[in-house]
Amino acid sequence: MSLAAQLSCLSDYDPNSFSVDHARRFILEQLEPIAASERVALRSALGRVLAEDVIAPCNVPAHDNSAMDGYAVRHADLSPDAPSRLKVRGVALAGKSFAGSIGPGECVRIMTGAVPPAGTDTVVIQEVVATEGELGEIVVVPPGQRLGQHIRLAGEDLAGGKPALAAGRLVRPAELGLIASLGFAEISVRRRLRVAFFSTGDELCSIGSPLREGEVYDSNRYTLFGMLARMGCDVLDLGVVGDDPAALEAAFRRAAESADVVLTSGGVSVGDADFVKQLMQQLGEVLFWKIAMKPGRPMAFGRIREGSRAAWLFGLPGNPVAVMTTFYQFVRDALYTLMGADPVPRVPLLPAVCTAPIRKAPGRTEFQRGILAAEDGRWTVRPTGAQGSGILRSMSDANCFIVLGPEQSGVAAGETVSVQLFDGLV
Ligand code: AMP
Ligand code: MG
Repeated sequence: MSLAAQLSCLSDYDPNSFSVDHARRFILEQLEPIAASERVALRSALGRVLAEDVIAPCNVPAHDNSAMDGYAVRHADLSPDAPSRLKVRGVALAGKSFAGSIGPGECVRIMTGAVPPAGTDTVVIQEVVATEGELGEIVVVPPGQRLGQHIRLAGEDLAGGKPALAAGRLVRPAELGLIASLGFAEISVRRRLRVAFFSTGDELCSIGSPLREGEVYDSNRYTLFGMLARMGCDVLDLGVVGDDPAALEAAFRRAAESADVVLTSGGVSVGDADFVKQLMQQLGEVLFWKIAMKPGRPMAFGRIREGSRAAWLFGLPGNPVAVMTTFYQFVRDALYTLMGADPVPRVPLLPAVCTAPIRKAPGRTEFQRGILAAEDGRWTVRPTGAQGSGILRSMSDANCFIVLGPEQSGVAAGETVSVQLFDGLV
């Protein structure tokens, strides 16, 4: 079914006001992850998506081992209600086992990570024992030790033969370590997503050239580059393309023939008397939306074709803050979905007390830029100041979006609002 036909099936679709949630869902429903994968050295897997389940070839840890420094004992030797005296037979070090086995009334000094010698079943921490004899040959163990205490069991982290990580997992530092703990030097990941982008508008000047009367420097290609690079995409920057049908067509065709996704900025507003929309329509199947959001109302979504290839297209608005907002709210999840990330890593909405009033009309979702801070044991947030969709400083000063839902009208100081952090631990 065509995109337009699917859209018309949505019972509550209003072409003049498409909700953020519906638009997001509609986009994600269309997408299938890219299939191709490649094997890479473990370090190169950082930020990539696992193409296959990682099955543990062995237990982790591979052997029982002590969680503490102390003495490995036989629990049956210990008196439940009086101190017990045990003879120390030797030392078990991490990576250097104690060779012999332990008989009744005997124990072994043991260090963290060492394998408990045969016959022992419990570790007593060194802090609670007293030693006797010049060389500490005898230890006195107080009562109250639990059978099996302070011993990490083989396989308690990862069980051999079972999936340690599922396909679709985004590889972060913890996954790198976990895969290394299984001994794998290489891993299979989905290939990188290729994303082409260009800016449109006759008023745009590329950095490196002097600005002429009426021009602005093209900043969108730099925010887009930054966001895409951080997601681990291969980027193809096609530059600024002026309002010239031949140049635009060439850019669209080049993007569609080499990329999985094409991002443009500018030229999709209602008032735009240019060729961008015309060409998008001509080269594929593209929907033009007015999304009930601020910033970022106009947006195009669809597919464009070149020969036998097709690429997903996001026609983002031109205003710099609108580009970033629509990227984070729509494109990010779409790219993760195409990358095969399952689940798509979510950025939760968290409550914070808004310290300043915010004016807002109901009917659309607003993404104000805010500064979240910890104050008197609670989270507070305040808007960054001027919120115009061209004021990129509002993004740079901010550390979160203040997300105001469509049903919400203004916010009074002291009211709790939802915030979405720009950064998280990664
Ligand atoms: P448009 O969506 O093309 O109507 O553009 C909306 C506003 O964003 C206009 O003021 C443009 O000058 C500005 N704009 C569009 N593209 C860019 C860009 N790549 N860099 C900076 N500003 C832009
Ligand atoms: Mg324009």
